[in-house]
Amino acid sequence: MAGAHLDSEPDTVGVNDNASGSAGLLEVALQMAKVKPKNKVRFAWWGAEEANLVGSTFYVTNLTPQQQAQITLYLNFDMIASANYMFGVYDGDDSAAQGSGPGPAGSAQIEKLFEAFYASRGQPTNAADFTGRSDYGPFIAAGVNIPAGGLFTGAEGIKTAADVAKFGGVEGAQYDPCYHDPCDDLFRVVQKGGDAALYAQLRSRYKLFGNINTFALDTNADAIATAVITYAFDTSTIPPRTAPAAAKATVAGPQTDANDLHLR
Ligand SMILES: [Zn+2]
Repeated sequence: MAGAHLDSEPDTVGVNDNASGSAGLLEVALQMAKVKPKNKVRFAWWGAEEANLVGSTFYVTNLTPQQQAQITLYLNFDMIASANYMFGVYDGDDSAAQGSGPGPAGSAQIEKLFEAFYASRGQPTNAADFTGRSDYGPFIAAGVNIPAGGLFTGAEGIKTAADVAKFGGVEGAQYDPCYHDPCDDLFRVVQKGGDAALYAQLRSRYKLFGNINTFALDTNADAIATAVITYAFDTSTIPPRTAPAAAKATVAGPQTDANDLHLR
């Protein structure tokens, strides 16, 4: 399953947050009409993410435990074309050891698939902490434990010198200088309050269309396509999880380290 939130903050059209993720995912869904996948692929465009993950929470909590168990993995795309971008990949294995811990078992493998994609393009990545701040939150929640992964090109965080060495752009400025502001717009960034000098500087280093970084959008759309088509045919890298009813039955058996579940 793959999803992106379709809503934005009320005072902005939200062309990066999150028309970028919604449009990237929609294009992949349209292209998927050309293939007959082995596995079922479900696409979701969530409502009311910005009002505290309302749509995705409703969806996940209204699945039966059996239906939840049938979702092998969930991919999330929330902000994939930030003007002053980084290539952030959700830190499924918590290798950065920052903020929240790792995702459910299998999340590390999803992170690896995305990292391999960027490596194949000669592009570096950053670990994006699994904060639960987007629609994957209800999927990875305790008791649900669906492996998850996804992309994030940065919001209100500040680009560092190390980031500039990897991705270019402007040090000391937000990854998305118009995050949750009216200037997160496709046409009138400066007219809607964007910092004219900063956007002029960004445009001297990157190709921007409004508040969209077209290189980040193009690359990340390919990353989404790679992940969706890979898992549409083969989820064998994702360790199986036991259904809730079956999980109870195994409690009586020999206790194994949770990490053993990664080994197949
Ligand atoms: Zn968002």
